[in-house]
Amino acid sequence: MSEQSIKNSIRNIPDFPKKGIQFKDITTALKNAEVLKEILDTCAEHYRGKKIDYVVGIESRGFIFGTALAYILNCGFIPIRKPGKLPADVIAQEYALEYGTDCIEMHADALSKGDKVLIVDDLLATGGTAKAAADLVRKLEAEIAGFAFVIELNDLHGRDRLASIADVYSVVQY
Ligand code: AMP
Repeated sequence: MSEQSIKNSIRNIPDFPKKGIQFKDITTALKNAEVLKEILDTCAEHYRGKKIDYVVGIESRGFIFGTALAYILNCGFIPIRKPGKLPADVIAQEYALEYGTDCIEMHADALSKGDKVLIVDDLLATGGTAKAAADLVRKLEAEIAGFAFVIELNDLHGRDRLASIADVYSVVQY
């Protein structure tokens, strides 16, 4: 399957959730069995053979791809969630948005020193969310083996913020 076929299955919604944003809707890609398999297999192929203990997925679309990827790569899955959702002790990381700040959390005992982690989300825009996820992983002294995304928005240069930390991989780019 070509990269273009995957792109054709991702729906663009202009001005969602606010004016000026071109929202990349992955529900249309998820619905297509062949595209879903191609996305996951392509991504898994990039990381096959690399030492990865856990996939860390970012709420909520990172859970969809992250858990499936963990299954294929034969490793465990760890969720990073919005504040107040995880039941046990957490560590938190704030990060800057265009206006204001946001925060993500991970269980404080989710990772141990030296664990090798692949961070997964559906889309890389400015890289702020993935960088905050990386900060959480490093607070627990785990190592980042890479970042994996289904979609990368090149104009927002998120890759530049992450590339000094670890390998950055995306299935399709816009
Ligand atoms: P960023 O932190 O700027 O890299 O933004 C990445 C996060 O915001 C991901 O969790 C995405 O799901 C979401 N996101 C940002 N821009 C878009 C977009 N144009 N379409 C869909 N999701 C987006």
